[in-house]
Amino acid sequence: MTDPSESTGDDGAWGFSTRAIHTGQDPEPTTGAVTVPVFQTSTFAQEAVGKHSGYEYARTGNPTRTALQTALAALEGAAFGVAFASGLAAEDAILRLLEPGDHVVMGNDAYGGTFRLISKVFGRVGITWSAHDLTDPSALDAAWPDNTKLVWVETPTNPLLTVVDIAAVAAIVARRPEARLVVDNTFATPYLQQPLTEGADIVVHSTTKYLGGHSDVVGGFVPTDDPDVHDHLTFIQNAVGAVPAPWDCYLTLRGSKTLAVRMDRHNENAAQVVDLLQAHPRVTQVLYPGLPGHPGHEAAARQMRGFGGMVSFRVGERDAAMRVTEATELFTLAESLGAVESLIEHPGAMTHLSAAGSPLEVPDDLVRLSVGIEDASDLLADLAQALDAL
Ligand code: PLP
Repeated sequence: MTDPSESTGDDGAWGFSTRAIHTGQDPEPTTGAVTVPVFQTSTFAQEAVGKHSGYEYARTGNPTRTALQTALAALEGAAFGVAFASGLAAEDAILRLLEPGDHVVMGNDAYGGTFRLISKVFGRVGITWSAHDLTDPSALDAAWPDNTKLVWVETPTNPLLTVVDIAAVAAIVARRPEARLVVDNTFATPYLQQPLTEGADIVVHSTTKYLGGHSDVVGGFVPTDDPDVHDHLTFIQNAVGAVPAPWDCYLTLRGSKTLAVRMDRHNENAAQVVDLLQAHPRVTQVLYPGLPGHPGHEAAARQMRGFGGMVSFRVGERDAAMRVTEATELFTLAESLGAVESLIEHPGAMTHLSAAGSPLEVPDDLVRLSVGIEDASDLLADLAQALDAL
């Protein structure tokens, strides 16, 4: 049985993919199993009261989860990491750092689910919030709301692909010792962007997306270097119990081993899709941080290793956007993102419906693509036929 305290840590010298494949994933000592087993058990035998392998009850800890947490923390370059049953459960655990009267600053195009959680769940228990254009950190500095305890950044954002300069926002937050900077790194992944090295205090992932990478598991993860935050998260993980099942931990760990090779291919395919969209007469705007004309291009080029697999575009009217989402064959019409297969969706009517009528509402002619790792030529042909038919 692997003891949590004995999990292999990163020795600091390994490269990203070596960590993804080996950190926290020594062969299982009893059998020599090379792959971390799915410890599908709810409880663990004790030799005497309190004398055990390091595990007592599976809500509190499970070896498959330990392996996942150790590996993903190493990918993010974090001292600690705590896994949850979904990205939103992970966000919920972070937000429980707050007390009534505290304030959350968020970007003005945050993911709809994040907005719903902050405004409709935490808003009901006395947490206040405001939405800001975080691409202008000096404006946030000037308008800093009283009692701000968390600044919640997403970059690139879902679905508008807005880029926030993490280091610039971190410098503003650092002047207020009572406040912490959270960065949702779901779109970029730790392979493309490392927010902790840019000055973030806490990172959050929906591992449902690129980290899992195969549209077969829902999960969340929170890496941090702050021991107080880690203690809080570990307490909430056990006290609230929104934990990932052993099988889900296994699937996420399996997916994350190939993150680097998948992200390289996502980057390449997305760049080709962007070229096609830019050249198409029915497309009125392409939103992609890799474009030199994108307002966040410089910041993205500095803080990201590549520009990612997410591309959004506008076609002038809602009806045309709807028709494109229904006309593709390889791009499956579905929510979610970040997996090997390409997906297409209408954010205004699907993923971001909860932001309708709020300051975070998205344009109704917007189409979002999660560009997968299929052959680029097939993806281009599929998109071209759908756009030509408009
Ligand atoms: N953050 C971002 C940027 C997302 O896109 C999502 C889901 O789409 C979440 C968080 C929430 O994650 P989950 O769906 O795993 O709860």
